[in-house]
Amino acid sequence: MKAAREIGVGSARQYYPDMSEVLREGEPTTARWCDLVNELDRWREAGQIATLWWRDDDAANADVRLDRLVSIAADVPISLAVIPAAADPELGEYLAHPSRSNRPAPIGVLQHGWCHMNHAGDGRKSEFPPGRSPHAVVSDLAAGQARLKGLFRARALPVLAPPWNRLDPSFLSLLADCGLTGISRVKPRHVACPVPGIREVNVHVDLVSWAGDRGFIGEAAALGGIVRHLRARRLVELDASEPTGILTHHLVQDESTEIFLRRLVAVTCTHAAARWLDAASVFPDAVRRLQ
Ligand SMILES: [Zn+2]
Repeated sequence: MKAAREIGVGSARQYYPDMSEVLREGEPTTARWCDLVNELDRWREAGQIATLWWRDDDAANADVRLDRLVSIAADVPISLAVIPAAADPELGEYLAHPSRSNRPAPIGVLQHGWCHMNHAGDGRKSEFPPGRSPHAVVSDLAAGQARLKGLFRARALPVLAPPWNRLDPSFLSLLADCGLTGISRVKPRHVACPVPGIREVNVHVDLVSWAGDRGFIGEAAALGGIVRHLRARRLVELDASEPTGILTHHLVQDESTEIFLRRLVAVTCTHAAARWLDAASVFPDAVRRLQ
């Protein structure tokens, strides 16, 4: 019998089998809705809350596509990665009073680089690739922070979501100089703080098939990614405290993705063990900096 892993759950204790028994090599990364519900049921039985968060990239304008996303999310908070140089001043007014409601939308703003320009010479696009001048990087990031704070005030958190999820590691130590306290990239983080003063919280399931037709990756693949990450957290195969992040791009979002998101919102918002976190809860250090 393989070793069990012990997780403290309040006053109770739950024992899980070793991860290798559950997540075998070559396991398909697809799942169904019932698998998501079953996984959330496991969290509930363990007395734990499965935290989720939603990052949407490339925002600049309060257009009809963003409004559709906000409508689909309803009361689920969105962490909106805004391109500072392209941000329309009217976006701030929209986020305060979206068309669907008189209530402010539960939307926090993250910094999506500066102008979403590719500075990489090779095939891997990046606004902050290796070899770029540190002075230029600091200049871009500081300008982005200043513009977002000016447009969005307290809604803007000092958190960088770099375009294409790429920032050369040599630049991580520069973020604090630009007033940033957090970073969000893709895939499970290695450590919560890659450099002192910077908290990393990533996204784990990108709903867009970038290698394909830029449409939806498909229900089975999307659910597979979510269930796999939740299960790995529950079994402490990886950092269980990093909330499971969903990534959308409202500018290229197709109808299939919207149908999936509506059902994901419905399923998770009616399950006692699932909780969506707003940007301030995902990056509490960033909020403390603002206070
Ligand atoms: Zn982008």
